[in-house]
Amino acid sequence: MRSESPHVRDEIEELLDGRLDDAARQRVETHLARCEECESVRRALLLGRESLRTGVRHESMPEDLTAAVIAVLDREDRRSEGPRAAAQNRRLRLYIAAAAAVVLVALAVFLTRPRDLPALVAENYSEFRAGRLPLDLETADAVALERFFADRGVRFRTRVLDLAMMRYQLLGGAVLDDGARKRAFFVYRGEDGRLLACQMYEGRVSDLRAPKTVRRHGDFTFLVFRANDQTQVFWQEGDVVCVLTSDIPSEEVVQLAFAKAMQPPAPPG
Ligand SMILES: [Zn+2]
Repeated sequence: MRSESPHVRDEIEELLDGRLDDAARQRVETHLARCEECESVRRALLLGRESLRTGVRHESMPEDLTAAVIAVLDREDRRSEGPRAAAQNRRLRLYIAAAAAVVLVALAVFLTRPRDLPALVAENYSEFRAGRLPLDLETADAVALERFFADRGVRFRTRVLDLAMMRYQLLGGAVLDDGARKRAFFVYRGEDGRLLACQMYEGRVSDLRAPKTVRRHGDFTFLVFRANDQTQVFWQEGDVVCVLTSDIPSEEVVQLAFAKAMQPPAPPG
């Protein structure tokens, strides 16, 4: 055993290369099993090697890898530098750089992955509530708003309800385009000032991730999500997905969705 350190870092590469005899391998493995520091080095080296060989792969890699890299860097800082150590450090740094590149690529993939719709719908609501999402048309006239959506290139037939009976006043709407689809967005204000937003877009609710709860009412299935401080209720009407979002109590959003849902209109002709 090397006298300068109780750790086995110098032997980890030899272990990974299969160059240790049985006795040495057993000693190193025993040490790795109880020393987090050396185990971090082993993982960093292993992941570094793997990333050099195969490029990026694992979804679960970043968190582990970041922890391993940080542990190694911490250790680097405390480490004394002999000539042998310097050579090893250069090699280790190369692995760390490769591992860091893997983290960055994985992160970029994660960040550019399309946002899921419940999150997007929640964000639109939050933005509107904060005054950062302007309406393209301010109107209390549902028919005028439907005409506006058609003029703006929304291909499906929107159905802007008059919710005056439920004491919600139509404020107007906007066309939201996330690149994948156009969504008709329209909002109502309740008596108490609370906001209710509706979105309609061409799509399938079956493409959504698993909801928090599923409710059934009549012939409809409602998928209920929670995001931010809001409830989102999705349901299918023909080829169109409808969503209601609000920060009012969850059950009220669900009940409004029950009231709004209806069979799609018969095709024209
Ligand atoms: Zn150790």
